Amino acid sequence: MAKTEKTTKELPKEVSVEENVEKPKNVLDEAKKIAKETIEGKKESTDKPEEKRIVKTDVGAKDGQNKCPKCGATDISLNVKKGLLRCNFCRFEFEPEKVEGLETDIDHLSGEVLGSGAKDIVADASDVVTFKCTSCGATVVVDTSEAPQARCHWCRNTLSVNEQIPNGAIPDQVLPFGVSKDEAEKKIREFVEARKFFAHPLFKKEFTTANIMGVYFPYMLVDVNSHSKLVGEGEHLVRRYTVGNDDHKETRYDADLYAVEREFDLTVNDLTVESSSDRLDNSQTAKTNNVINAIMPFDTENCVKYNSNYLKGYTSEKRDVNIDTLKPIVEAQAKDIARMSANETLKHYDRGVRWENEDLKIKGQQWKSAYLPVWLYSYQQVKGDKKILHYVAVNARTKETMGSVPINYTLLLIISAIIELFCIVAMINIETDSGIKYVLVLPGVLFFFIKKSKYRNASARHHHESDTKHEMKNVEAKDEYIKRENGLSNSQIRGKNNTSVYGSTNSNTFLDEIKKGIIGGDSLDPDDKMKLWWKMD
Ligand SMILES: [Zn+2]
Ligand SMILES: [Zn+2]
Repeated sequence: MAKTEKTTKELPKEVSVEENVEKPKNVLDEAKKIAKETIEGKKESTDKPEEKRIVKTDVGAKDGQNKCPKCGATDISLNVKKGLLRCNFCRFEFEPEKVEGLETDIDHLSGEVLGSGAKDIVADASDVVTFKCTSCGATVVVDTSEAPQARCHWCRNTLSVNEQIPNGAIPDQVLPFGVSKDEAEKKIREFVEARKFFAHPLFKKEFTTANIMGVYFPYMLVDVNSHSKLVGEGEHLVRRYTVGNDDHKETRYDADLYAVEREFDLTVNDLTVESSSDRLDNSQTAKTNNVINAIMPFDTENCVKYNSNYLKGYTSEKRDVNIDTLKPIVEAQAKDIARMSANETLKHYDRGVRWENEDLKIKGQQWKSAYLPVWLYSYQQVKGDKKILHYVAVNARTKETMGSVPINYTLLLIISAIIELFCIVAMINIETDSGIKYVLVLPGVLFFFIKKSKYRNASARHHHESDTKHEMKNVEAKDEYIKRENGLSNSQIRGKNNTSVYGSTNSNTFLDEIKKGIIGGDSLDPDDKMKLWWKMD
């Protein structure tokens, strides 16, 4: 009742926003919607029209020359072991800078905050940046689709693109490589060695870690300040028993049914989503992108302010999707995190909970674009007229490794068939009336699928719902007994969904959205991307 009162009081304030002619149209629409919903009592009265605030993260990066603080040389690169920048002229090593001005208190995050590197990409922005060399005055052209640095032909100074340009090539932050090429090679070799037996013979012949690449992939790191409300029903097991005679036994369950509600504040820290349409597209069968997704999470709290010197010796992929395209994914993943968090408070419902209504109100969000480091081995398998690109990827911070190895299906099928045959012969010869012997139909089939999954890892993914930093606060619970249910035949509540995950980019739910949101349009052409890969080798 108290809430309704508050709603009526605050209403004029919400409506008055409509009179403010200076607000952009979408904000107005949003305000109108909220006002309408407030009248209808659907949303809480604390809703405010979203405001956007941009934090400039490329401050002081204009002249294109990053100089050694000690000797002024511009030839600087990353010392992977120490995580420091090193002057290649005088060997002086110095600390990376942190981004300033971003919101660190997610509890009080409101509206929309974005790093200047996360701004919308301009569709026809050029990849080429022209600099005037501050040392000698010559004009130097840097093609950011190739590398964010170039040497001045005249004075040999390095010119770096650190200023954010509207083509998505310069992020707010970068997480420097922390794993050397040797370490990555070792991880990749171990991964493949463990999958040699059923590997495709041509792959075995051609496998070499010589051409692995260090790649900075573009991601969005999103902080979310939200309020979650879940409404549904849960069941608690009272008794489990069997019915029927010796020939036909069935299990039955008695359970208590409850009306369940959970309401809480939820903050999410650095929810990480790919922000290149090509990497986001995990549904295509021509590529094994999901293995790159599966090596998350990264220690994103150690991100530093972007500086093109971190990229020296590595390749990078440009961001080509904007925030609006990623919002549905982020919202779905935040909801997954809320649903999983609520489970901590639902231990009583051992038969599960069926949520009928899940509401996540995002009070504040902060978007930061970042380059995260990956060591990548890629292998193209040609199967008739089909091409499959297999990856083995190593997280260049945590060494987490995942990959896809082409399978010798002929060999795998033969071995599976032999196992199957043995077991069926055994099944026929076993002298028992028990139906249990029929499980011997399974081993050959199981063997096939277990091996297939070990080699291809087609369902591997990042577990955003559990591996993202988050905090649940101010939990309000309602558990109301409804009735005792007797003789149920299901071992779980019907329609159980409290452990379901909907925001994974492994499913193609979001694919149409992503395709619509690509900037430029040619990014999904696998042949073009391929050209880029080979060129880098
Ligand atoms: Zn120096
Ligand atoms: Zn020069």
